[in-house]
Amino acid sequence: MPLKPSEKEEEYFARLEAQKKKKLAEEREKSLKQKERDELKQLHWMHCPKCGSELQTITYQEVEIDRCFSCNGLWLDEGELEKISKTDAGKSSMISAVLRIFK
Ligand SMILES: [Zn+2]
Repeated sequence: MPLKPSEKEEEYFARLEAQKKKKLAEEREKSLKQKERDELKQLHWMHCPKCGSELQTITYQEVEIDRCFSCNGLWLDEGELEKISKTDAGKSSMISAVLRIFK
């Protein structure tokens, strides 16, 4: 039976994958003109990235959680996972690991 990769290894490979995908996204972003970016934002603003339904915002402890009630996905804006990680309930190793992956 193959050995399960350690958490550290999993985190390392997830971080590599995130860095690779970030680079590709930055290259794509650079190729878009401002007008195209404005149009994309207007088209997709507050819509679920998975199913396209409208997102609803619930505020809890100063964190705005955008929820899709069609597919039940959750969306957090930049900096909000960091806010959650600083609460007592958010001091889990999973949240810390997710933040390290996308650093
Ligand atoms: Zn959805």
